[in-house]
Amino acid sequence: MIPYGKQQLDAADLAAVQDVLQSNWLTQGPKVPEFEQAITQQCQTQFAVAVNSATSALHIACLALNVGPGDIVWTSPNSFVASANCALYCGAKVDFVDIDIETGNLSITALSEKLAIAKQCNSLPKVLIPIHFAGQPCYLKAIANLAEQYGFKVIEDASHAIGARYQGAPIGNCQYSDICIFSFHPVKIITCGEGGVATTNSPELARTMQMLRSHGITSEATELTEPSHGVWYYQQQMLGFNYRMTDLQAALGVSQLSKLTRFVAERHLLAKWYDDAFAGNTGISPLQQQPYAYSSYHLYVVRLLNLNKTQHKDCVQFLRQQGIVGHLHYIPIYLQPYYQQLGFKAGYCPQAELYYQQAVTLPLFPGLTALEQQSVVETLQHFLENTL
Ligand SMILES: *Cc1c(COP(=O)(O)O)cnc(C)c1O
Repeated sequence: MIPYGKQQLDAADLAAVQDVLQSNWLTQGPKVPEFEQAITQQCQTQFAVAVNSATSALHIACLALNVGPGDIVWTSPNSFVASANCALYCGAKVDFVDIDIETGNLSITALSEKLAIAKQCNSLPKVLIPIHFAGQPCYLKAIANLAEQYGFKVIEDASHAIGARYQGAPIGNCQYSDICIFSFHPVKIITCGEGGVATTNSPELARTMQMLRSHGITSEATELTEPSHGVWYYQQQMLGFNYRMTDLQAALGVSQLSKLTRFVAERHLLAKWYDDAFAGNTGISPLQQQPYAYSSYHLYVVRLLNLNKTQHKDCVQFLRQQGIVGHLHYIPIYLQPYYQQLGFKAGYCPQAELYYQQAVTLPLFPGLTALEQQSVVETLQHFLENTL
C-alpha cells in the first residue's frame, strides 16, 4: 500500500533518541529548551512552548487568551476536530466560517460577512482559529485587519504548515497573530512521535502557557506570592495540566527540524509533478496556490469536479483496492455526531460540504518514488475514464 503520508526517519534521528535514553533526563531535561530554541529560530519568533500535542497547544493557547464560558471561538469547518474542540474544553462556544473551495482555507469574504452580522447581534468571537490547510498559509494580513477592526484574537492552527511561508516570512513568526501552533504527529511535516508547540511574541502569553503545560506551577522566586519555604518550594497559581513534551520527543524534534527545508523542497517537487500530470484534465482540480503563499505541502489534494457523491466514494475505494491510500481531509467538523448534538445542521457551510463531496488527498511524502506517483496518476485517470 502507498500511504497518503508518512514520516521519514534516518540514522541521525535514531541516534538522537538513543542519546537521550542513555542520559539522566528522559523528561524535563535540556532537550526541550533546545528544541524550543530551534523552533524560535526556524519561525523567527520570540517564544516557543513545547507540549505533548498540537491539541494540548490549542487548549492552552485558548486558556492563555482567557477563553471561557460566555465566549465564542470561530474556526474553519475544513479541519481536524481538535481545532474546534479546544474552545469547548474551555467552556466556550464554537462556530464555523465557510471556506474558499479553491484553497480549502477559510473564506475571507465569508468571514467579513459573518463578522458584520455578529457585530449587530452582539455575538462577536473572542478568538478566531484559522487553519493553514494542507500547508498553504491563509490570507493572514486580511485576517489581522479584521481582528483589529472587530477586536478578536488570532490563533493560527499551523499543524500542517511548519516550513511554510507567508509573503516570504516563516509561518509561526506571529506577525499577524497572537499565537501559532504546530503538530509533530508522524503524518505531519516533521515528527516527534507525538508533540506540539505554541509560538508567540508575547512574554505574558508564553509564561502563562509554560505554567499551564505543567500543572500551573512555578518555582521562580520573582513569581512567588510569599517568601520561599525552602529549596523544595513551588506554588500552584492556576489550574494547569501535564501537557509536557519529553526529552525523547524533543531530541527527535531537533533532529527532524534540521531536515525541514529539504523535506518541504521535496514535497514541492512531488506536488509539481502531480500538477503537471493533471494539467489539462478539466475534471481534476488541484488546490489553487496563492501568490502570497509558499505551502509546506502537508497534503496534496485534488477536487474531482465531475463525479457525483457515489462516484466520489467509489473512486477513493478503487484507489485503496489498487494499493493507494487515497484519503479525505476533512469531514466538515460540524457534521460530526457530537457537533450535530450541539445543534449544527447540515447545509451550514455549503462550500465546505461541496468540497467534502469532491476532494481526495493523494499520497505525498518525502521518499515517494516516481514509479509510485505514476501509479497514483494512472490509477486515478483510469477510474475517471471508466466512470465518466
Ligand atoms: C493534526 C492536527 C491537529 C492535532 O494535532 P495533534 O498533534 O495530533 O494533537 C490539529 N489541527 C490540525 C489542523 C491537524 O491537522
